[in-house]
Amino acid sequence: MMHLRCNAPGCGTTLELHVHALACPKCGDLLEVVMERPQREPCDLKKIWRERRASHRVLDQSGIWRFRELLPFDYADSDVVTLFEGNVALVRGFKSADWAGVTDLRFKHLGWNPTGSFKDLGMTAAITEARFTGAKTVACASTGNTAASLAAYAARGGIQARVYLPAGQASANKLAQALDFGAEVVQVAGSFDQALDTLLAQSEADLQFLNSINPFRIEGQKTAMLELLEQLEWNVPDYLVVPGGNLGNSSSFGKAFRELKEFGFIEHVPRLVIVQAAGANPLAQMWRSGSGELWPVTSPETVATAIRIGNPRSWRKALQAIHYTNGVVMDVTDAEIGEAKAVIGRDGIGCEPASATTLAGIRKLAAAGEMDRDARIVAVLTGHALKDTDYIIHSQEQRAGSV
Ligand SMILES: *Cc1c(COP(=O)(O)O)cnc(C)c1O
Repeated sequence: MMHLRCNAPGCGTTLELHVHALACPKCGDLLEVVMERPQREPCDLKKIWRERRASHRVLDQSGIWRFRELLPFDYADSDVVTLFEGNVALVRGFKSADWAGVTDLRFKHLGWNPTGSFKDLGMTAAITEARFTGAKTVACASTGNTAASLAAYAARGGIQARVYLPAGQASANKLAQALDFGAEVVQVAGSFDQALDTLLAQSEADLQFLNSINPFRIEGQKTAMLELLEQLEWNVPDYLVVPGGNLGNSSSFGKAFRELKEFGFIEHVPRLVIVQAAGANPLAQMWRSGSGELWPVTSPETVATAIRIGNPRSWRKALQAIHYTNGVVMDVTDAEIGEAKAVIGRDGIGCEPASATTLAGIRKLAAAGEMDRDARIVAVLTGHALKDTDYIIHSQEQRAGSV
């Protein structure tokens, strides 16, 4: 039976799948869904997943639920809360590759999802599960994108949404989305980390917390890597590059690669590269120092507001993913992020600042000789360009002013 298990080494407490617990009742560490080997062979499933793209069944049209054999899926079709997320483009970045000094670069644009960020992939799974287990209200702390996504999917599922945002720090565009979808917005003084602490201190009956420590969100996000590999005809790239904030996304990708390899879908895994912003870089600092414990950054600062996070909750899982994939953790400055973002724009693609850490990171690794020029690279763009229009206008004004 599929179940939840505590992720802490040496604990291993297990729980039933649908209990709704955010943390291990014994040691407080994060939980994860333990997947079972699917009943069908990998080659059959690859064919079925692809064929579902031509199906009109709602479940098959979602880029998440069409991979349901690798998801916790005990639902009837009508239980699923979906906005047809997933199925997004894998697009080559020619100018971006030139700028970074590499030859084979593709962007997996998860910002081209219903609410404009990858958060939709996890949210369809988490809201479906919350409704299935009787939640009346769902809540999250957010730097903006989780709030927008939670608000949309809760509205879709007929559940009340409450979002905690760091006052004055989330982009106006993201706040507007949350309001548009009818969420109750609570502004908290301080940073995202403080907003999350405030949220976790609440406890009300019928209220479920859907931050990325929620194991169902990790499951939904995992499918981005299944879809990517399908688009690459299951030819595994050399590198998969992703921005790191609270580190749920990196964790989910690591889990995807582990399961795909263990279940025989792929023979080896890509090297995972996690890129943080230099002002919010606790994992990169820990990686460089070789220490085994994460020291939070107390006042995280970066223009990439989606990753302005000093105390990432999923750091252990992300680190396991780095070890499993022989990966790399690094950071880039706000200036590097700004340059990279402008180049991605010139490719006609666009993204929000946090996503541009990937291209900045690739350039840095290539320049240092740590990434082969001809390596096959996929960078994950996490958010849409229209998520943070103030940033674009201000940086263009600055550029115009400096000529
Ligand atoms: C949430 C988010 C991130 C960070 O993802 P984590 O899972 O918290 O590491 C990066 N970019 C964008 C646009 C996001 O919305």
